[in-house]
Parts: sequence; structure tokens; C-alpha cells
Amino acid sequence: METVITGTYNLNEEEEKKVILREYRALLRVLKQHIKKGDKALLRRAFEIAADAHKDMRRKSGEPYILHPLAVAKIVVEEIGLGVTSAICALLHDVVEDTETTLEDISREFGTNYAKIIDGLTKISNVVDLKADTTVQAENFRKILLTLADDPRVILIKLGDRLHNMRTLESMSREKQLKISSETTYIYSPLAHRLGLYEIKSEFEDLALKYTQPEVYWEISQGLKETKRERTRYINEFIKPIKEELQNEELQVEIYGRPKAIHSIWNKMRTKHVAFEEVYDLFAIRIILNSAPEREKEDCWKVYSIVTNFYKPSPERLRDWISVPKGNGYEALHTTVMGPGGRWVEVQIRSSRMNEIAEKGLAAHWKYKEGMPSAQESKLDSWLQHLRDILNNPDTDTLDFLQDFKLDLFTEEIYIYTPKGEMRVLPKGATALDFAFDIHSELGARCIGAKVNYRLVPLSHEIKSGDQVEIITSSKQKPSEDWLSFVTTAKAKSRIKYYLKEEKRKIGEDGKEILQRKLDHMGLPMSPQNLQELCLHYKKPSLLDLYYGIAVGSVDLKDLKEFSISGDKMIHPVKEVKLDSKHLLSEETVKKPAKGAELIIFGESSDKILYKLAQCCQPIPGDDVFGFITTGEGLKIHRTDCPNAAQLLSHYGHRVVKTKWAKNKEISFLSGVRLVGLDDVGVIQKITNVISADLKMNMRSLSIDSHDGVFEGTIMVYVHDRDELDHLCQRLAALEGINTVERLEAQEQ
Ligand code: MN
Repeated sequence: METVITGTYNLNEEEEKKVILREYRALLRVLKQHIKKGDKALLRRAFEIAADAHKDMRRKSGEPYILHPLAVAKIVVEEIGLGVTSAICALLHDVVEDTETTLEDISREFGTNYAKIIDGLTKISNVVDLKADTTVQAENFRKILLTLADDPRVILIKLGDRLHNMRTLESMSREKQLKISSETTYIYSPLAHRLGLYEIKSEFEDLALKYTQPEVYWEISQGLKETKRERTRYINEFIKPIKEELQNEELQVEIYGRPKAIHSIWNKMRTKHVAFEEVYDLFAIRIILNSAPEREKEDCWKVYSIVTNFYKPSPERLRDWISVPKGNGYEALHTTVMGPGGRWVEVQIRSSRMNEIAEKGLAAHWKYKEGMPSAQESKLDSWLQHLRDILNNPDTDTLDFLQDFKLDLFTEEIYIYTPKGEMRVLPKGATALDFAFDIHSELGARCIGAKVNYRLVPLSHEIKSGDQVEIITSSKQKPSEDWLSFVTTAKAKSRIKYYLKEEKRKIGEDGKEILQRKLDHMGLPMSPQNLQELCLHYKKPSLLDLYYGIAVGSVDLKDLKEFSISGDKMIHPVKEVKLDSKHLLSEETVKKPAKGAELIIFGESSDKILYKLAQCCQPIPGDDVFGFITTGEGLKIHRTDCPNAAQLLSHYGHRVVKTKWAKNKEISFLSGVRLVGLDDVGVIQKITNVISADLKMNMRSLSIDSHDGVFEGTIMVYVHDRDELDHLCQRLAALEGINTVERLEAQEQ
């Protein structure tokens, strides 16, 4: 709930009413073709209830709150393609959560169908509870996915809600901006991707980048602006001959060039280590055909043949998602051709029907629209069924599941056939064992090998699109720990973990008995507190691990003597916490900041807090950072653009503390620079001269790798802050023979 007025918003009551009514009418306009008899009255009712319920609330920007549900309803209709029911639910999506209105009220007024969707939406909004711990959050996320499997409209409306919140993130505090952006990257954009809402997914990622790395965002969007004229000229030159030929063939098409999304340009710059100017494929050409459904496939290939008559295609870069659409329903032909001036250009060819699916996703059409080819419907259906299967699995390790599931969401798909010729869709990188688990968990558990295209292969064999796979089983087979090292699908992983856990549980029973006897002997109860002390001392994450350790002998119960005992409570012997002293401010023991501590300013805080700099991103003063309370190593400082940040911020929000740098020039920080240049004899000399002689910096290591006259080097150097590092990069870049200099990328963990 947002009720604080901070914006520069200043309308009087009359003007406000006008704005609200204007937005309501705009919603009616976009709904026009969907509205049937009776709908209008229902919509009006929903609008009145929502307006009344939110009448005293305002958004952070100062606007009346009702403008938010109105905007969400419009997004849901216009950009996701849903109808009247969803618009009504969008209007009401925050009333149960934030106002006196109850689900019963909704049910009475609109019926149980509506109440069910609103209930789903209300549950989802509780997921992001800063105070909840990780497992609660994960459990909540599992609930989201279950609602999704139940009625996709819930999650689609939620995506609309999130989209509007992201679009209006400007007026939020910096902390909220970071948190909401991270969550969007972590949960909502993979979901949008999986549901085929490419436009929305792309906007999510661009907006998240805008708030997590504002400089990068502005640099690229500025670059796009500056190169626009040149790009338009090139696109027109490229399109011209194709357009003429298509007209001769009397094909009705729309053809245009579109710049790539900012985040995808950024990804390319990062992964390929190139500057903005070198990202040549800043755009894609899109050709959209206005063909009748029975002609669309043929027409798409006709266009392909015309395009490749003018420009040579790259043989490896043809993607035919028309013959075999993606699991989320996406259909198109993609090819990359050599355009004028020797530039590779991506061309996407699809019909207007396919385009609709590409922009709004298949789920939107699913079951709520007529005329959907049944093959596609069943594809989404089977994905949802798959989701239900995993979620209803008794395995309780939700966090792990989420991690795996998220990976599943993003990977490319391959198509595998059973011996009977039935096709199954798996993520790229799947092994024969993944395939076995995909068919049935028992088949997976008993799998000893497979025949791929009639050839015998081991369980870990990676299968490829088009393979025919037959699974070989044995009744004596049992899942083992090492299987986890090669399976890639969430389903296989969660099933194997479940089997292993069951196995562990059985063995653990013995350990439990042994412990029971020991404690009886010492006259101590097996109380939850005592068990917790034992887990702490033996560093076991769960009771199951403790019992299992005792049973197999890896937990030594001799230590029990060292516990101090007070009444019937055991207290585990305290050991000194050792920390890497290199990065520490002082040698005191770690103090966890008091609960609810908001701000830590390094060096200025009267109560000095020890921290470590995260190894994955090696932050230095000047970087945008946050602190994260780890379980064993005190406070860790990460860069907000660290690849691990999104997960930490969205999953463990309650363990994040606001952090900023103090002006303190006494400490140096280890940082890394990566450079690429021409392999010239004097180059190392020149580099070390700049660092040691000119800038008087402390260099820790320099490693150079050269091949074919090009060298790549990594320098580890101690700097005081970001300015100093930037200055070093500039100096190095200015050296003759050096091509690129950049800070070492953070590592994903
Ligand atoms: Mn909302």
C-alpha cells in the first residue's frame, strides 16, 4: 500500500475526477470488440467498487490510486490480449489486499469465478514479503506457479500489474527500485518469456537495467539515438529490393527494421567484450505477411526464398519454428543473411497470426479465443501439466526446485522421439536420463542406459534434437548422488533428490536411535533447542543430515562432552570466527547488525561492522553496492550489478542492508582489469610503466595470453575507489597497441 504523497502531482478534485473518468473511457475503448451484452454494467460496477475502495489512497507519485488498477486493466486487454473477465479482475486486483473489501463481497457481486482469480492475485502479492524468510518466499512462489497451472489468467494479470509498477518505478525510493527490479529479473521476466510474451519480457529487462545500471542504460539508449539516422538509411537500402519483389509476387506484407532491446545489446557487449560501436546487429528486419491460415506456411517460405535471392544466408543460422513451433507457441522463420557492406542482418518472417502470438503470447489465446489449432493448445496444456506434476511432487526442497525451474524457463528446446514416434520437448543439454524422467519417474529411477538411434549410450549421454531414444531399465537400479551432476531438467533433479532423501531418511533412523540413547544416558531431552544446538555445532543444515551423519559415522558424538549444560539445555562450544583479514576494517569479531538496522556507512558508523567484499564481483568504493548478511561469514558487500544480486535481493530481501561508501582513502581494494591488444614487444613494459611508475599503484599480478599476434591480459591491482580504476582504464586504453580495456566481469555463482 502506498499512501505517502511525495510527487509533484497537483490537481484539484474536479480535475482528478476528469482524469479518472478519461482513463475509464479509454479502457472501454480498448475493450470494444470484446464487450457483450451485460458486460458494460459489470465493468462499471467493478470500476465503482475499486474507485470507492481506493478513494483515500494515493500512489507514491501523488496520483489517485485508482489510476493504477485502471492502467493494469488496459495493459491486460491491449498488450496481453485478454478479455472482459480479466479486465474486471485487474480493476479489482488490489481491493482485497489493500482495502476493507473481502473475497466474499467479490463473490457475491460477481460470482465465484471472479473471486477465484482475485484470490490468486492476492496470494501472489504476498509473495514479496520482506519479512518472510527464504523458504516461506519459495513456498509462496510455488503457490504462484500452482495458480498459473490452474488458471493462466492469474499470472497474466499479475504480469500486467508488474509491468505498470515497473513503468512507474521512477517515484519509488532507490532501495525499492533495486528490489523490485531484481525481483522482476528473477521471477517475472522468465515467466513472461516462458509464456511467450516477448514484448513484455523485453520491456521488463530494459526497465530493470534502467534502474539497476542507470549509466549503462543511458549510454546505450543515447548510442541508439545517435546512430538512428545511419541505421534507418541502411535498413531502407536493405529492404528496398525485397519490397519490390514481394510486390511483384502480390504478397501483402509489412516490412520494417527494429532496433534490438537495450538489455540484449548490453548482453552482447558483455559476453563478446565489444564496445557499442562494434555491436553490428543492433536491429532485426521483420517481415509480417497478411496470409490466410492455409497459405501462411507456404508464403513464409516464399518470402525466405526471395530474401535469400538477394542476400546470402548464413547456413547455420536458419531457424524453422513454423514446422515445429517452440513450446510456448512461438512460430516464425529466422535467418541471418549477409547484407550490403558485408554486415550480417537477422531477418524474421512470420504471418500476422504468428506475430500476434509472438507479441501477446499463446496463453492469452489459450481457451479464451476460438480458432486455436489444437496442436498448439495441447503443447501449452502439456507444459502446464508438466508444471503441475513437478509442483505436486512430495519433494519439499522448493528453493532448489525454483533454481532449476528458472533455468528450464530460459533454455532452448530440443525435440526427441520415443520408439513409437511420439515427440517430447526437452531443454537443450538434456541427457538420456532426463528423457527417462520426463516420460515417467519410475522409468528414470530404474534407467541403466539408452539406445539413441539404435546405438547404446550411457545415462549421461546428451541427446540432440531429432534423436529417437529408447530407455533401458533394470529392476535392480537405484538413483545415486552422481546422477545429479549430469541431469539438467528440474523434473529429473527433483525426483532424484527425492529418492536420495528417502534413502537418507531410512539410514538416518539408526542415527536418531543412537543419539536418543546417548542423550538419555546424559539425562538430556531431545528437545528442539538441543537438536538445533547439535546441528549448529556439527554444521548440519537439517536434522536429517545430523541423523544421517551419526548413522554413517561422519558425526563424532565424542564432542558431546564439550557442550556446556544448563538445566536440560545444551549449549555448543563456541569457536573463534576466523575471517579473511585482508579486506577487514578491524579485527573485532563479527557483529551482526541489529534487526531492522537500516543504514551502515562504512568507516563512519560508530559501531564498526566487519564486512567482506564478495569475491564474485569485487566491489570498490564508488560502485553501487549493497550489504548481504551471510550465514557464516558476516556481512558481504556486492555490486548491485553483480550477476548474483538479483537472486539475493529477491530471495533474501530481509538479509539485505543498505550500504554506501564512506570517504575513506586509507584502504585499497583488489580489483581486476582485462585488456586486449596487439602483441608487440614493448607492450608489457608500457603497461607496467603506467601502473607502477606513473600512477604508483600496487600491482598484484599480471597475466598475458597471446596468440596469432593478439594478446589478452588480466591485471590485478589495488585501487582506492572507482575513480582511480576508471582513470587507470583510460590511461591503459590510451596506450598504443591496446584495443580494449575493461573492468573484470563479475562471476555468476
Ligand atoms: Mn497492483
